[in-house]
Amino acid sequence: MKQVIYHVADYIEEPVYEAVGKALEQLDVLSDLTPDMKVLLKPNLIMARKATMPITTHPLIVKSVARWLQEHGITNIIIGESSGGPFTAEHMKTIYQTCGMHDAEPYATLNMDFGFQSVNAPEGFTNHTFNIINAIAEADYVINLPKLKTHAMTGYSGGIKNLFGAIPGLQKPQLHYRFPDIEDFSNMLLELSLVVKPQITLIDAIDAMEGNGPTGGDSHPLHMILASRDMYTQDYFAVGLMGLEPNEIVMLRQANERGLVHMDSLELIGDAIPENLTPFKKPDTKELDFSSHVPKFLRKPFGVIMKKVLKSYPKLEPEKCVGCGKCAESCPVQIIDIKDKKAVFKKKGCISCFCCQEMCPMKAISVKKAI
Ligand code: SF4
Ligand code: SF4
Repeated sequence: MKQVIYHVADYIEEPVYEAVGKALEQLDVLSDLTPDMKVLLKPNLIMARKATMPITTHPLIVKSVARWLQEHGITNIIIGESSGGPFTAEHMKTIYQTCGMHDAEPYATLNMDFGFQSVNAPEGFTNHTFNIINAIAEADYVINLPKLKTHAMTGYSGGIKNLFGAIPGLQKPQLHYRFPDIEDFSNMLLELSLVVKPQITLIDAIDAMEGNGPTGGDSHPLHMILASRDMYTQDYFAVGLMGLEPNEIVMLRQANERGLVHMDSLELIGDAIPENLTPFKKPDTKELDFSSHVPKFLRKPFGVIMKKVLKSYPKLEPEKCVGCGKCAESCPVQIIDIKDKKAVFKKKGCISCFCCQEMCPMKAISVKKAI
């Protein structure tokens, strides 16, 4: 399995384009494509944030992929994503604008179809169907363009997690509600990724995020792009580059257990892995989590105790809160109210999904341990 790495010092148009082009060539993308095909680019546009912050996929990555495809005869290119918040024209226009997606418009169209469809999962999956936005469900070819980040709930956000944006708008909190347990939620993400099945995943790790990702962490540049046809092995590999243990990330441990990770056949292409990479800081929610070291047969009984002992909850920092209500909108169990322009969390019912922290634009939500 080819794992492509190219060093890119910064977000400067021509070096980014050159690296992206070389990566797509190495993966022989053109051998898959014909000019009549509809190609979907799936960036991470989790919230309306400028490209200078390591929260969303940088527009130069998206533009470079679209430009390279167009220059090689592919013209039906769509940028499609369902961000956090509602999947509506009004919301997505703000997202596209703030995240710089208009830069890619000479080469690609921004998706403005806000419909979705039910797509069947293969036999034997826990989830029999997934509601997937039309732009992704109807594409002939999907190029997944995640941002490399730590993540408060899942530990890591890369190729697999980026595909959660295939689920329309506020149906995402509903899935958090259906799968409050990290094992079940991770299994859902894995099954979703096997349904969307992107042909290529190219990770923006020129600047990445450490700490309280996916939106409240800090910049940790790796100065590289990663690309592969095998999203699962690449995610496993990328977590290693971050200095984290892949088997501590539940979705990667599960991917490995399902035989989706092939580290034995990893063939590194492109630039060398830099020496002395600094490990990424974990999210506060994961600092004390060692449940992944527990043998599989003990995980269930151990999990019950550990959940009680190690569970984390959101904690409001009132001086930073502006009462915008984005946390309340994203809370799957609706235990957040806005009173006197401040968020108020009810004491009971929290499932520790950290959607509230993820969607807070003011970094006003931190983490507290149960004990
Ligand atoms: S906690 Fe954050 S998201 Fe919630 S109301 Fe305050 S500023 Fe808005
Ligand atoms: S309060 Fe925050 S962490 Fe708790 S369930 Fe709601 S969104 Fe999830």
